Amino acid sequence: VKACGRGVWGRFEAAMAQNLRQHLLIEQRLRDALRLNALSLHYQPVIALEDGRIVGAEALLRWNDAELGEVPPDVFIPVAEDSSLIVTIGEWVLDTACAELAHWRAIDPGSELHMAVNVSVRQFAEPFFAMQVAAVLARHGLPAQALTLEITETLLLDGDARTLAAIEECAALGVRIAVDDFGTGYASLAYLKRIPVHALKIDRSFIADLPGDRGSAALVSAIVAMATALDLEVVAEGIESLAQADFAFARGAHAAQGYFYGRPASALSVRARLSAAS
Ligand code: C2E
Ligand code: CA
Ligand code: CA
Ligand code: CA
Repeated sequence: VKACGRGVWGRFEAAMAQNLRQHLLIEQRLRDALRLNALSLHYQPVIALEDGRIVGAEALLRWNDAELGEVPPDVFIPVAEDSSLIVTIGEWVLDTACAELAHWRAIDPGSELHMAVNVSVRQFAEPFFAMQVAAVLARHGLPAQALTLEITETLLLDGDARTLAAIEECAALGVRIAVDDFGTGYASLAYLKRIPVHALKIDRSFIADLPGDRGSAALVSAIVAMATALDLEVVAEGIESLAQADFAFARGAHAAQGYFYGRPASALSVRARLSAAS
């Protein structure tokens, strides 16, 4: 029993040490990633369900490290959030995505395309975050409504007074606020009354089993009905088939995103797609 116990514990410790080493390695290399031009943004189109047109895109971080290769954002974003790295990286993301959006708007002047950017809680907690957002918009000549800041539901639930104030300041600029991964927070929806939210993004875990799964169908229908009653826009995430798009549209979702319409792609390929469509 003893030997077995030590064996399990030993393996557990080894796994912990391994995790810690991996964490430190990622943090160390991420520190240099911006300087080495190893970070880039991909853009995934957001489609209006009504007519299938591209109305904007979500900016998604990519990191191609010389040694580690492609590191997925689900792996390195949590590491960046544990240090202050996410603040520096987040500033770069916001500026780069807005620069790209200004470019798209120049390709197709009547289009009123918008850009959605993911924002971590650490960024909102930084002093002057809203002022920084205003400065970026001004630098690229963009109206505030062209920018959506995506915030995960858990952030809104755990957010302290400072974070909530920063969200309000951004909304006051005219920037749109979207709740990301909506439905995964398992909690009270009371925050929807307290915080100036403009859109809900239905998490792709609810979309994945549509239209066959009755539970998912009921949940998506209920979310869209509630959002509509609250005057919120609904974006269905992770649409992979026509049947899923049809279902979301029939229930009243406004916009959609997913592999069915396009995977996240480089700025150049999105520009080409927009030029062809305009
Ligand atoms: P998210 O914000 O929920 O982004 C959507 C994720 O779903 C993306 O993964 C996207 O590639 C993926 N996806 C889109 N359509 C489909 C589909 O039809 N099927 C499936 N199976 N997946 C789909 P990605 O790019 O790996 O990003 C993962 C997460 O990393 C994001 O989840 C977001 O939370 C975070 N992230 C990415 N970029 C940033 C950033 O610039 N800042 C912050 N703070 N977080 C970011
Ligand atoms: Ca997002
Ligand atoms: Ca999401
Ligand atoms: Ca997510």
